[in-house]
Amino acid sequence: MPTTISIYDTKPYDRQYLQQAAAPLGQKLIFHDFRLTAETAPTAKGATAVCAFVNDNLNAPCLQILASLGIKHIALRCAGFNNIDLPAAKSLGIAVTRVPAYSPHAVAEHTLALLLCLNRKIHRAYNRVREHNFSLAGLVGFDIAGKTVAIVGTGKIGRITAEIFRGFSANVLAYDPFPTPDWAAKHSVTYLPFADLLPRADILSLHLPLTPDTHQLLNEKTIAQMKPGAIILNTSRGKLIDASALITHLKTGQLAGVALDVYEEEEGVFFEDHSSNILADDTLNLLLSFPNVLVTSHQAFLTHEALTEIARVTTTNIAHLATNKAPLDGTSL
Ligand code: NAD
Repeated sequence: MPTTISIYDTKPYDRQYLQQAAAPLGQKLIFHDFRLTAETAPTAKGATAVCAFVNDNLNAPCLQILASLGIKHIALRCAGFNNIDLPAAKSLGIAVTRVPAYSPHAVAEHTLALLLCLNRKIHRAYNRVREHNFSLAGLVGFDIAGKTVAIVGTGKIGRITAEIFRGFSANVLAYDPFPTPDWAAKHSVTYLPFADLLPRADILSLHLPLTPDTHQLLNEKTIAQMKPGAIILNTSRGKLIDASALITHLKTGQLAGVALDVYEEEEGVFFEDHSSNILADDTLNLLLSFPNVLVTSHQAFLTHEALTEIARVTTTNIAHLATNKAPLDGTSL
């Protein structure tokens, strides 16, 4: 009998890449465009494995329903796992896998794309010239060379981001509770305590997981300690930043700019077309109205290479667990 996988929050690109990877394995894929929650979990009936993404909510009630339907494996097709109650999954005997490193380059490169766009005001210039306005007024940026960049979290993505910044001749500082000194020495990166990064950084970029300890790491107080006129980049998780604190500090000029690929309350908003709706989230509405705020809709991972790897690891792990083989190295949670 083929393995049946119930797959949530899927978009056309997910379907295309997962279908290509699943075909040679003979897996049956059931795609849902809605998110997985305790309310939608009954739709996994008949499946043996579930595949979920970043904004699915795999809390204990949801997991209990999945367990009662006989789900033995949840394959997260993402790196982050803050959206699943792991102890609950364990106690229910559900194996959980993720894709820890599908393409750290994709996210690191998007981080730089956001900064270059924001700093050199490409988003404004693009619209201007389309209206035949070739004026340069208000488009002054700064050289990244010689600026101080703080990388918070030097895991897979943070390290690549730091190396790219070194390629721009920036001074790179970093904080990580588990530093990698050999790598830092090789790339002339200096580790400092987190609090020491704040007053020094012209650009601060987040590359750490969301945990109870890192929730709203950037808030009214910590942003107030930053160098006046700094720029914040977040391609990690929205809840690492108190979004209303960004507004406070953008209004005073304490922050010169903010680029976000993730947002505190992105669930139900990001990945969807709301162009004909009124957005109820006034914090997001206000952020989107600022000329020095750039928001992308959690797209840092969205490259051909990353989607290919996500689909390969996800379908391979489901095939392995269905035949009692170990999941791929480093993917088990
Ligand atoms: P990783 O596990 O390789 O590295 C994370 C690093 O953060 C580790 O070195 C860890 O020691 C460090 N860390 C933990 N707590 C910290 C703290 N309090 N302060 C500073 N550092 C801390 O993870 P990664 O693959 O590099 O991913 C980094 C982030 O990027 C994660 O939040 C992940 O969810 C996010 N991500 C976003 C996208 C996207 O599309 N926007 C895609 C993939 C990953």
